[in-house]
Amino acid sequence: MYAPGVLRTLATVACLSLTALAGCPSPGTPPPQPPPAQPPQAPYAYPQQPPTYYPPPQQQPQQQPQQPQQPQQPQQPPPPFQRPLLPPLIGSAAMQQEVRTVLAELVQNLGASQKARVQGIPLVFDPGLEVNAFAGCEKGAPFLAGTEGFLLAADAIAQTKATDEMFGTQTYDAYCKLVIPQILRSEKASPGLPAGIIPQNVGGDPRRWSRARELFQDIVAFTFGHELAHHYLNHTGCANGQPPGPNPAVIGNLLNSLIPITNQPNEAAADSSGAINALDTGAARLPAYRYSERGGLLLLEFFARLEQAMGVNPLSPVVFLQSHPNPQLRIPILRDVIAAGWYRAHPQIAR
Ligand SMILES: [Zn+2]
Repeated sequence: MYAPGVLRTLATVACLSLTALAGCPSPGTPPPQPPPAQPPQAPYAYPQQPPTYYPPPQQQPQQQPQQPQQPQQPQQPPPPFQRPLLPPLIGSAAMQQEVRTVLAELVQNLGASQKARVQGIPLVFDPGLEVNAFAGCEKGAPFLAGTEGFLLAADAIAQTKATDEMFGTQTYDAYCKLVIPQILRSEKASPGLPAGIIPQNVGGDPRRWSRARELFQDIVAFTFGHELAHHYLNHTGCANGQPPGPNPAVIGNLLNSLIPITNQPNEAAADSSGAINALDTGAARLPAYRYSERGGLLLLEFFARLEQAMGVNPLSPVVFLQSHPNPQLRIPILRDVIAAGWYRAHPQIAR
């Protein structure tokens, strides 16, 4: 079968509807224009919190013939690192705990009524490799869920982007070119970072690990800010501040059969509220790393590549293209409308 996991991915975390905002086609209208032939350029800048590192990275070996992509030499030494170095985030247990920590921060920074609706909602992880996160109800009680695939993809995006920022490499491109075709072919393919993508001579750099952890947190903040919003905006209808429901550990078995229904106005609302929640949370944790729209942009750019890779495939399901908004439409909404409005309301925060 053709990548049902990816369909679910894009129907929940990724395929947040922009119909209400951007005139996305409704079912029955002609399919959207095919995506451009060029791979999507990173449609965002990195203006806020530029990574600052010190001392300069190590000289790289002259030849690395076994590496799939030869890294470029850094153009100039990075400036000093100004935030405390974070320990490496390695392994599923550590990544799950990181999600729990970020989620607790997100809840803490909600308004009182929203917080009352969602405080204490259980978070469960599913071992599946599809890249996904959910807000759902089990026996009338709310839960949040993320997949192992989501953790692996967020980690891979964070690690490659951190590496590229610091060392001028193109490891994110290399990761996408290698992994996206695999996960589109089989839902059993891992979206995790393959060996050999990160150059060996920079792989162990503690500044790279620290930066990757910041970006992982940022992706998590947007993703679970969005899922949390589905609950407190009452899209799920089961988050009313009631006591926790059944043990969420049993929910994992249900995730693979969960068929989300994309409600496009709700997805746009969750995108907006979730991003604002992440921005508020980021501002509250200064001078530590400030979560922002960046995590959402990183994730959406990855999903844009996924969708483009599906779109050029003659076997790609047209129904999907008709019923799900293009992530590349969500990117400018997030960056230029939602985040821009937040920064206008918070002039003390440098973007
Ligand atoms: Zn959603």
